[in-house]
Amino acid sequence: MGSLSAPGLWALLVSALAMTAIVGGRYLATSGLFALITRRARPGLYAGMDRQIRREIFWSLLSAGIYGVPAGIVAWGWQAHGWTRIYTDFSAYPVWWMPLSVFLFLFAHDTWFYWTHRWMHRPRVFRIAHAVHHASRPPTAWAAMSFHPVEAVTGAVVIPALVFLIPIHVAMLGLVLTIMTVMGITNHMGWEIFPQALVRSRLGHWLITASHHHRHHEQYRCNYGLYFRFWDHLCGTDRGISTP
Ligand SMILES: [Zn+2]
Ligand SMILES: [Zn+2]
Repeated sequence: MGSLSAPGLWALLVSALAMTAIVGGRYLATSGLFALITRRARPGLYAGMDRQIRREIFWSLLSAGIYGVPAGIVAWGWQAHGWTRIYTDFSAYPVWWMPLSVFLFLFAHDTWFYWTHRWMHRPRVFRIAHAVHHASRPPTAWAAMSFHPVEAVTGAVVIPALVFLIPIHVAMLGLVLTIMTVMGITNHMGWEIFPQALVRSRLGHWLITASHHHRHHEQYRCNYGLYFRFWDHLCGTDRGISTP
């Protein structure tokens, strides 16, 4: 990479700030929406939790600032220098690649999350990096991005790194980000939004929803996964689901 001109540097800064605003705005809008749904579906569930919710919003907005930096750099590089393997032409890859690329993104993110999450449960690392996330007892819809900056960095680099490795259509990338946002919220919401017919099905045996992640927040040293129970089953860390 050559030296960066002043306008180039300015564009990079604007891109990072824009991404921070987008991530922060997306968090407030979606967590706000699900908090509202919670108020309708489970009245009083968050009663008396105002202080915790304020803390969750504080750490989440700080995380949004951290998530915005690598995302902004990559978005700028994509626009200005054609970086990344993001494509916009539907015919660039076979149609079947679209769902497969989404699955590969989710599986790679899940794998990264599982192992970094287990690492963050080592006592010394936990106190520094992960205690903030577990300070939510039980978590609410606002806890989706409630991470200490160290944990936020481990989460923020995943998708910006994967777009260099795995070709993905820009619309499928949007789908990955939507799934990431919605599952991050619903897994922490404190109640199960998905039907029991799915949660307790054969497919549910492999998928993570609130019933699974809630148990992680209750018992700590189990159920480390993000989207799939693959690594938890394989490594013997899956303790089943609880009823949040
Ligand atoms: Zn959690
Ligand atoms: Zn944890």
